[in-house]
Amino acid sequence: MIPQTDPKAAYLERKAEIDAAIARVLDSGRYILGPEVEAFEQEFASFAGVRHAVAVASGTDALILALRALGVGEGDAVITVSHTAVATVAAVELVGATPVLVDVDACHGLDPEKLAATLAAWPSGAPKPKAIIPVHLYGQPAAMNEIMAIADRYGLAVLEDNSQAHGATLDGTMVGRFGRIAAYSLYPTKNLGAIGDGGIVATDDPVLTTALKELREYGWRERYVSAIAGMNSRLDPLQAAILRVKLSHLPADTARRRAIAAAYDKGLAGTEGLRLPQTRSGAVPVYHQYVVEAPGRRDALQAALREKGVGTLVHYPVPVHLQPAYKGRVPLGAGGLPRTETVALSVLSLPMFPQLADTQVVQAIQAIRDVCRQAA
Ligand SMILES: *Cc1c(COP(=O)(O)O)cnc(C)c1O
Repeated sequence: MIPQTDPKAAYLERKAEIDAAIARVLDSGRYILGPEVEAFEQEFASFAGVRHAVAVASGTDALILALRALGVGEGDAVITVSHTAVATVAAVELVGATPVLVDVDACHGLDPEKLAATLAAWPSGAPKPKAIIPVHLYGQPAAMNEIMAIADRYGLAVLEDNSQAHGATLDGTMVGRFGRIAAYSLYPTKNLGAIGDGGIVATDDPVLTTALKELREYGWRERYVSAIAGMNSRLDPLQAAILRVKLSHLPADTARRRAIAAAYDKGLAGTEGLRLPQTRSGAVPVYHQYVVEAPGRRDALQAALREKGVGTLVHYPVPVHLQPAYKGRVPLGAGGLPRTETVALSVLSLPMFPQLADTQVVQAIQAIRDVCRQAA
């Protein structure tokens, strides 16, 4: 079976380096924050093209702490999408704010026209919009130029959810540098993945950076003095050491993802009943996922591919606003979410990870072509 993703393969490829990094932390005797975490933060900030990065316990926490640093809380509304990991929306509610979910465009990002329409039709008496969270889903940059123009017009802060887009660019600028602050997940299968949970927040703003460092550690300004009400959300030095190894190989891993995507583009072009991923003009994606759309027959295609030994996944089968925990109570943006609800039924993520072999890519392409030809 060709797996859809394989975090163990990423470990095995760099086993000697990762094992040495783990041993270094064990021998250091420093098991909370300290030099290993600081070194990772500096190296990550330099990679992301920002001045500061603050490492935290997960991508969800990265979003929560970024929202809190921005001063978002009770009585505020945050505009984001429903076509995303549940964590994006959960984070908004966990800081006490109200998520307002807007539809996506053809590249699976927050639709700027729907965003503008939602703000123009904002009900009086509803929680006040304070921030926007665009998600660069699948590693495809969202329409940041248009979204920033709208955010500036309304005086809204922009927090980019970069959990799937480590290193993607739009018009030559890395995503995460458009808004005031960006949150990244370092979950094992993400483009930069720990061997466990992790997250990081990146920003140029020194005031936000100070707030993030206090918030992640009991609100401490100095040891045992809580200046603000904080929490515990620190990245382990063990994970930081592993992530430093992974980060040093991220450019090569991203190049490999792009090569696999190019092979899919070429091998699957013109396949009956299959829509290939669309990339916005000026965008260079990092292909966290390579997502095709098979309207009306996604589930059949997935089952047939499983029979042929090709693993796939659906990201995500149920949009957040239709999940049991959120259904019927989360406000939706202007025009509802027709595209979000449609794509949830048609998207299929093909095998995509840097260690995927060329022969496996060829095998997957052949299997998809065969299944689609038989169906046509
Ligand atoms: C993975 C992911 C998250 C959540 O990250 P965790 O590290 O699992 O908490 C948030 N947003 C998006 C878009 C993600 O892909």
